[in-house]
Amino acid sequence: MSQIRVRFAPSPTGHLHVGGARTLFFNWLFAKKLGGALVLRVEDTDQVRSTRESERMILGDVERLGLDYQEGPNVGGPHAPYRQSERLSLYADYVRRLLAEDRVYYCFCSDELLTQKREAAMKLGRTPHYDGTCARLSKEEAQSRLKQGEKAGLRFRAPQKTYVLQDHVRGRVEFKEGMVGDFLVTRTPGAGEKEIAEGIGFPVYNFCCVIDDHLMEMSHVIRAEEHLSNTVRQLMLYEAFGWTPPEFAHIALVLGSDRQKLSKRSGDVSVFEYIEKGYLPEALLNFLSLLGWWPPAGFKPASGHPEVLSIAELISTFNLEGLQKAPGVFDVQKLQWMNSFYIRSLPAAEIARRAQPFFEGAGFQLEKHSQDWLVKVIEVIRGEVTLLSELPQAAQLFLESTPHLEAEAKVALSEPTALSVVEAMVGTLSANQGPLTVEEVDGLPKRVSTQTGVKGKSLYMPMRAAVTGKIHGPELKLILPILGRESVLKRIQALLTQAR
Ligand code: GLU
Repeated sequence: MSQIRVRFAPSPTGHLHVGGARTLFFNWLFAKKLGGALVLRVEDTDQVRSTRESERMILGDVERLGLDYQEGPNVGGPHAPYRQSERLSLYADYVRRLLAEDRVYYCFCSDELLTQKREAAMKLGRTPHYDGTCARLSKEEAQSRLKQGEKAGLRFRAPQKTYVLQDHVRGRVEFKEGMVGDFLVTRTPGAGEKEIAEGIGFPVYNFCCVIDDHLMEMSHVIRAEEHLSNTVRQLMLYEAFGWTPPEFAHIALVLGSDRQKLSKRSGDVSVFEYIEKGYLPEALLNFLSLLGWWPPAGFKPASGHPEVLSIAELISTFNLEGLQKAPGVFDVQKLQWMNSFYIRSLPAAEIARRAQPFFEGAGFQLEKHSQDWLVKVIEVIRGEVTLLSELPQAAQLFLESTPHLEAEAKVALSEPTALSVVEAMVGTLSANQGPLTVEEVDGLPKRVSTQTGVKGKSLYMPMRAAVTGKIHGPELKLILPILGRESVLKRIQALLTQAR
């Protein structure tokens, strides 16, 4: 087969949606796996909804996910430009070709009239098709109406026959004759738009998509299932131009946990929001990859968990056969679980680096501390969090200047033997000098127990409460060496004062 070429073709109308991110990722994996190229094409012909700001946001989101592409708006490539709004003159040539072959006709029906007709058809329970009013106009009539300044779009004469698609996901898909009526390839220009050439109007998605997918030499189109109804129109255009269509894979819908199509209602939908909240791109991508795709049976990821696959494993196992027909359900709890898994398993230094903005955002000054120190803190606390944004709170203990005694810890310190336990602890810690080591702290409970005769919960609880102000948290032998001897002793004094 010739080179694998796929594309991600977002319409820039806001941040990258998680559904779009999944489509992008499947295309990316497919290209990586087969040594192909991924093209990023900006579909911005709907100039009312598209903005440059949205394009910047989407490209930023793609970058945040760490996904690269070989051709696109900012990287260029042999098929530049990659923004449809910059390809308008090129589309004009192909519109002229359809016009010369009488495959399209001028349609003067206004949007209001078309809406009325559509609604009337739907009331009668019919599929709303264009009723052919303008198909019956003679060329002369159409020309004279154009000359009088009437606005028109160009409508494609949809062949009345059955189309069959061999889809990589859906299998054999039949589009029955009569399913689709004549459709617009160009429309009358909207506010701020100009005709791409005189009397030609402004091109619409289905048309630009076919021209671009052909000229950009796409071998496969992997996109959401909701585009199936466009696909039949696009197949008609390929046929009209005498071009071989690419292969198609229409990926199943993503549903929210309410089993409705994922939307704003079902919670966060943009990649940006998830990343801002402290989700790791690795976790998000791993999670998205399993919405409608499954690795080959028997594959055992190195993580030890069947659903935690590294990017390298996803690349090596990805194939179109693994794409599922059934919709994927976006289960946020599963994503949270996956995120905590990644927070625990990526190198602590990497987590520390990525957590930096969250510490700054929470108002913590990290300059006083070395990077090594932060990495140690992360190692101790990362098991307790789900999101990067929760790390500052979990690190509070190491960063606060005045320790805070929680109510439960106060209760632990008011036990009859608590004070003797804490005094013995202070005595032992003060008797030694130099850095506080893991070994020293490890031996501490035993020494305190020997001195006081206190054991079990009555021993451990006050010891923990006196240093941390809490009764839960990571092991003391991990916490104390990071705090250091001096700080531990100071904290104990401050917390005992609060306990009185
Ligand atoms: N611009 C379309 C969208 O954002 C892409 C359709 C396609 O992939 O062909 O939905």
